[in-house]
Amino acid sequence: PAISRLFGERPRPLRSLEFFPPKDESGVAALRKTAVALRAFRPDFVSVTYGAGGGTRQRTAEVSQMLRCELGCVVMPHLTCVGHSRAELYELADAIHASGLRNIMTLRGDLPRGPAQDGAAASPTPPPADSPRYASDLVALLKARHSDFCLGVAAYPEKHPQAASAQSDIDALKAKVDAGADFAVTQLFFDNSLYFRFVEKCRAAGITVPIVPGILPALSLAQVRRFTAMCEVVLPDALASQLDAAGTDNPDAVAELGTQWALRQVEELLAGGAPGYHLYTLNQAQSALAFGACGF
Ligand code: FAD
Repeated sequence: PAISRLFGERPRPLRSLEFFPPKDESGVAALRKTAVALRAFRPDFVSVTYGAGGGTRQRTAEVSQMLRCELGCVVMPHLTCVGHSRAELYELADAIHASGLRNIMTLRGDLPRGPAQDGAAASPTPPPADSPRYASDLVALLKARHSDFCLGVAAYPEKHPQAASAQSDIDALKAKVDAGADFAVTQLFFDNSLYFRFVEKCRAAGITVPIVPGILPALSLAQVRRFTAMCEVVLPDALASQLDAAGTDNPDAVAELGTQWALRQVEELLAGGAPGYHLYTLNQAQSALAFGACGF
């Protein structure tokens, strides 16, 4: 079923999980085990990322089918348009549709960078001439190809790093919704006030679709520092100092603190009206199971 329908039908906020396609068969076997462990979490849907770089593209389809069998819930593959011609995107859309999947996380993807030369900034390799430029163009393409697709899109409470301004990024989200997107999932964030303020601005801009917060239970300080720098999101001092105090020689204690922070975030987000929450699992079961145990 369409995820957009689940928001209305389920008597509680939706819970969902994100996985990435492992690089090799042993990684797929490990993910299968994770999926089996996560049956207890009973996700409403799970999503599988798409390697814009190309390496894991086929794996997204394979892993999506595997998770569908293991978890028996709605599976949403991601699809990025960067580097794809329109003909390739039609082919990919038709393959997803033919496999029985109806939900797609619809993205532009990160622009590829060519090799840097002589210390100069890396230059993007030219995309196929008719490659859609923005995620909104891919939304329009997919809806035109199969009108029964239900499409999720990305939203950025702290603005996409390349956006000229917070308002222009909200305009870009509005363009995705106007093109047919059914719901949005946010970039990770650690400060809920940024999500609540963002949703308010989106509503003021006429964006009415559900905006699901994307939450990363931190596993280590080095990891959150890397992610927050990469995504240009705020790492609250309180979280950094808690993780720092737990030290680097006790990874279980650090992961427990990260999970507790994420649990408090989700409790407050749901109390504040969020339509669900989407956990960036990094293919680990542990944190998600803590959420299941708390009944969120
Ligand atoms: P867009 O919505 O197209 O926006 C890209 C930039 O262009 C933004 O700065 C926006 O403000 C600007 N923009 C948009 N439209 C216009 C316009 N008309 N005029 C001027 N500027 C405009 N990446 C992957 O490679 N694979 C994945 O599986 C993946 N999954 C993700 C899941 C989530 C929930 C999130 C939040 C991100 C994910 N990403 C993934 C990362 C994403 O691909 C990058 O952040 C990418 O740089 C932007 O993708 P987008 O779909 O948000 O692009």
